[in-house]
Amino acid sequence: MTDSAGAVADRAAAGFTARYGGRAAGRWVAPGRVNLIGEHTDYNEGFVLPFALPLHTVVAADRQDAEQWTVWSELSDETITFGADDVAEAGRVTGWGAYVAGVVWALREAGHPVPGARMAIASDVPLGSGLSSSAALESAVLAALLDLGGLELPAELQPRLAQRAENVYVGAPTGIMDQSAVIRCRAGHALFLDCRDESVEQIPFDLDAAGLTVLVIDSRAPHRHADGEYAARRRSCEAGAAALGVAALRDVGVDQLDTALAQLDDEETRRRVRHVVTEDQRVLDTVALLRAARVRDIGPLLTASHVSMRDDFEITVPEIDTAVEAALAAGALGARMTGGGFGGCVLALVEADRADAVAAAVTAAYAERGFAAPGTVPVLPGPGATRLD
Ligand code: ADP
Ligand code: MG
Repeated sequence: MTDSAGAVADRAAAGFTARYGGRAAGRWVAPGRVNLIGEHTDYNEGFVLPFALPLHTVVAADRQDAEQWTVWSELSDETITFGADDVAEAGRVTGWGAYVAGVVWALREAGHPVPGARMAIASDVPLGSGLSSSAALESAVLAALLDLGGLELPAELQPRLAQRAENVYVGAPTGIMDQSAVIRCRAGHALFLDCRDESVEQIPFDLDAAGLTVLVIDSRAPHRHADGEYAARRRSCEAGAAALGVAALRDVGVDQLDTALAQLDDEETRRRVRHVVTEDQRVLDTVALLRAARVRDIGPLLTASHVSMRDDFEITVPEIDTAVEAALAAGALGARMTGGGFGGCVLALVEADRADAVAAAVTAAYAERGFAAPGTVPVLPGPGATRLD
């Protein structure tokens, strides 16, 4: 899973030359992302705190005169071509090309004259692990098309456009977090995002200076019923908010939680509401600790978030719980599942010199339980999408 942006960028450039001849006019990079804390709070109009990963998608591109887009991705070693008709209406291009066509469609729909382009894409963001390879792809393509076309779109408006590509063109119902993180994160910081008004704040998260690292553990667990369960959680949250007479669960503070829970007569809804309300507070508490440079002290909040997801929101699976327990037993300061649940990744806050030992402990625990080996990579918060050259 590890690779530097440089190596990925070299592969994108080489792919461009092999497919199209000559050199690309430029290369644009966008990172994957991981959410430090704040799970299932986004659609409840609450808080999330993602940071950008040192895993990257790179697009090498140049313009072409025709209203045509030719795209090669090393992942499937496949070249696709689409034209103006294919981006006149959402959904005409399917498969992975939809993420690229979706960006062209969204730009045109917003009134931007998108230039035709040839693109070559390389990436080391794992697909479908919850590290947002989809937003990395959209954001790198968006950055490339904006520059190639000399188009102006302020950074604060770019996430929404990339999100529309994914929601409307691809048809995947995701929140604003992924694209916001990929586009707006800064190195050494986490991005505090208020999902109600989409305002963001850069929060210092200098793990390196603190002698810490975040170990990202890809559970490799098959996503079991993830879509249906996700929809069911959303329905529970909406039902809870309606019963409490608030616009969204974000409007219930932890100090009002006991009163709110007493008003709900369904035990399951009570647990779902308790997760969301306490999780929002854990994000706020994490932000306060990071602002005070107390990075190690966020560990217990991460672990409490996991317990809440496991017991109240009921979205973890055995592989995920095993990874968290093994990481904590091996000395992690805190550990939690990250992402929507039912698989995906775990993150553990660890002393930098313990990262290998914690990774080994998780791998050993997996072997003991007969699970397929997990992926492990130590990460530091990196920068968001940008032009490379
Ligand atoms: P995640 O964003 O968590 O990685 P998604 O299911 O949202 O998972 O997005 C994964 C999909 O995005 C892939 O199945 C593929 O269609 C597309 N994708 C992402 N990165 C690339 C890439 N470098 N080349 C081709 N397709 C990609
Ligand atoms: Mg995605």
